[in-house]
Amino acid sequence: MLGVTFFGNPTNMLIRSNTCGELRESHIGQTIRLNGWVNSYRDHGSLVFIDLRDRNGLTQLVFDPDDGGATEMMEASRKLRNEDVLAIEGKVRARVGGPNPKLETGKIEIAVSKLEVLNKTDNPPFLPDDLAKLPAEEFRMQFRYIDLRRPRMQAILTARHKVYQVTRRYFDENGFLEVETPILYKSTPEGAREFLVPNRHLAGSWYALPQSPQLFKQVLMVAGCDRYMQICRCFRDEDPRADRQAEFTQIDLEMSFVRREQVMEMMEGYVRRLWKEMCNYDVPPIQRMPYREAMERFGIDRPDTRYGLEIIDISAIAAKTDVAFFKETLEKGADRPAFTSKKGVVKAIRVPGDQGAEKLSRKITDAYTPFVSGFGAGGVAVVKVNAAGEFETGIAKFLTGVKAELFDTLGLKPGDTVLFVADTYSVATKAMGELRQKVARDTGVVPKPATEGGPRNFLIVVDFPMFERNKDTGKWVAMHHPFTAPNDDQLQAFVKADVEDEVTIESIVSAGYDIVLNGQEIAGGSIRIHDKSVQSKVFQLLGMTPEQAKEKFSFLLEALSYGAPPHGGIAFGLDRLVMNFMGTDNIRDVIAFPKTQTGADLMTKAPSSVTDAQLKDLHVKSLAP
Ligand code: ASP
Repeated sequence: MLGVTFFGNPTNMLIRSNTCGELRESHIGQTIRLNGWVNSYRDHGSLVFIDLRDRNGLTQLVFDPDDGGATEMMEASRKLRNEDVLAIEGKVRARVGGPNPKLETGKIEIAVSKLEVLNKTDNPPFLPDDLAKLPAEEFRMQFRYIDLRRPRMQAILTARHKVYQVTRRYFDENGFLEVETPILYKSTPEGAREFLVPNRHLAGSWYALPQSPQLFKQVLMVAGCDRYMQICRCFRDEDPRADRQAEFTQIDLEMSFVRREQVMEMMEGYVRRLWKEMCNYDVPPIQRMPYREAMERFGIDRPDTRYGLEIIDISAIAAKTDVAFFKETLEKGADRPAFTSKKGVVKAIRVPGDQGAEKLSRKITDAYTPFVSGFGAGGVAVVKVNAAGEFETGIAKFLTGVKAELFDTLGLKPGDTVLFVADTYSVATKAMGELRQKVARDTGVVPKPATEGGPRNFLIVVDFPMFERNKDTGKWVAMHHPFTAPNDDQLQAFVKADVEDEVTIESIVSAGYDIVLNGQEIAGGSIRIHDKSVQSKVFQLLGMTPEQAKEKFSFLLEALSYGAPPHGGIAFGLDRLVMNFMGTDNIRDVIAFPKTQTGADLMTKAPSSVTDAQLKDLHVKSLAP
């Protein structure tokens, strides 16, 4: 065996009797064997100390000539270096230098009597030490096997494993069947850009990698599977973002013969079990919040309810002022229903004086206008309430006439700051939702993460609109996905609605639901359409001709016509769950072999070029220079 030096009995590897995290005072006097990596090395003249590391922890080894350390072994021990792979045998003794409270094994050490060097390492590019300054992430991704040796990364892998186990146990107990669905799938317009795979057998035909197993799980319900679950990989070729990976994992579920409430109850049970087992946290009953309320109060469909700074519509008061841009805005579509995207509105946020308003310096608030313009809004007007209870700065002088009403509606007090945005409903809502989160960060009212003792605010958002207009194309798009059913009480309205009747279409509410934790969507799902004609109407509304619908979805439409039961489901983002449990906001931390933001695997160097012969086989011509 190349590069391997044996000491002790060379024909018989010292197979471990224990792990490096296991030994305690109760083992003192026993002869044990350990295997692992040299985590640290200290030569103290006559004695050599090594911390040996495996997935379970660290154990201190002592090479001691007075306690089992023969001369040949003492010499060999002096040649050991960080990350060498060892097997040792020795006796557990009380730690001579006194206990190390930082280590679980800190009360003992091993007086080594046999040493096998299982593998010498080359000089490592860096050391897997959580406490040292780590090199740049890209460098660590290149040597992922070394980075994964860090105790923190091992803890994350372990937590992820535990999530799988708790999940499988819970859904098994509740009668769900785990079924695998294909990775080589059909290109279907589900929302994101797809990864395509050419097919060698039929020139010009392609598979797509699934964005989710959505239609397979629905077909499984038609197939009588009743309850399905899968921990599955999904693929979306979306633009890079820090908390996204093109390849990610969902906990995917579907149930037959249910309405919305049964799915939500099952999911609440799962959330409760998962948080209990992962962090001994008892999730209280989860509040349901209608989408419209979330948008009105928080300007977003995944509200972070850990802090206030709620948004208040002050359009009626604004109409009585002489602020020109308030008036102009309100005249836009003032006759439309309150929620429609084109209605003009004025919205305000009160930043309380006793919750950080003083931190909003002129410099900070001046930056709010360019900030909201990123979301299409014209600007933010800022007014302060001085110690005498009078408005100051900005549009203060135009608000005198409505002072009492504004004080009453917003609950104003001296020291407060008020931020106003005026625009169409959809722009003002979005801009205020983003501004609210920014103000929370600027004033320091965002609580610390749950892993550091902060609160966990769960919420189930319901009653989403079925459709919204795509900002760029102006076409209707499904807010969840095109297979989501109208809510029970909306079905008739949807069936009757004229597809040209914008106001009615915009008002139809779906049977979708999202689970939100501290402002992050952790799961989303819906009751599905199980009636073929309703499904066809949705496709029509989304701009598909009957021929296009048939080409893309004939298997679904057919399945729906052969006895499809009512069904619904949900999918949890598993990576996000693990991020949450482990207190990291880097999704790459929780994936064993992640990719960079541009989709590169720096260890294997994928994606990479292929030969012309391979391309020819696949009937593909490369346009790459
Ligand atoms: N397939 C959906 C998604 O990936 C989840 C669901 O509706 O169950 O978002």
